[in-house]
Amino acid sequence: MTDTYRHKGLRKKLVDTIKEKGIKDTRILEAVGKIPRHHFMDSSFIEFAYRDQAFPIGSGQTISQPYTVAFQTELLQIEKHNKILEVGTGSGYQCAILLELGTKVFTIERYRELYLKSRALLSDMGYKPYFFYGDGYAGLPNHGPFDRILITAGAPEIPEELLKQLKIGGRMVIPVGGSGGQVMMLIERIGENEYKESKHGYFAFVPMLKGKQ
Ligand code: SAH
Repeated sequence: MTDTYRHKGLRKKLVDTIKEKGIKDTRILEAVGKIPRHHFMDSSFIEFAYRDQAFPIGSGQTISQPYTVAFQTELLQIEKHNKILEVGTGSGYQCAILLELGTKVFTIERYRELYLKSRALLSDMGYKPYFFYGDGYAGLPNHGPFDRILITAGAPEIPEELLKQLKIGGRMVIPVGGSGGQVMMLIERIGENEYKESKHGYFAFVPMLKGKQ
């Protein structure tokens, strides 16, 4: 797939849009400006790749809106070399953004079809996360604990197992709520049994579901 001057121009506008909406972290803005989002889109929606919107990617799932991707990433306050768990690989776009920030990413997807597709695409693009096909509710106990945990689907509640896999001093970002919308929550682990929660506005994600398909 090619990345033309037209694509680059559209990306520049997209960066301006999310900047206007409040994204400040220049590393994130640079990553959005660099990554060809059209590579991650379903072919029927490719011409809309640089709209600040979510689009279908198959299996009833969506590629998140760029603003939402940037917002979640900003809340995580990522530091270089952070070890990150991402629940919901989906198209792989969010994963590519995390990798551009110099992190080590462990990403889980419950749909086999999406897992295979994003694994092939990210590898072709030269990205090297660790891919897992499975249920993100369980996290990855054998690979944790993690500096950062990012959930990219709407969770009915905060999964207990994931809290355990967060390092002390670590941050987890998770949209919590049902099909009517979710509140973006930031959870900071400040001690062995101490967590601090804060709320950061309303969003609409596809649901986080149990099991795998
Ligand atoms: N980060 C993705 C967002 C995809 S939408 C991107 O940038 O495109 C959310 C994804 O979470 C979907 O692909 C969905 O299948 C996946 N998902 C939902 N529940 C899950 C679970 N329990 N474990 C792993 N993935 C899950």
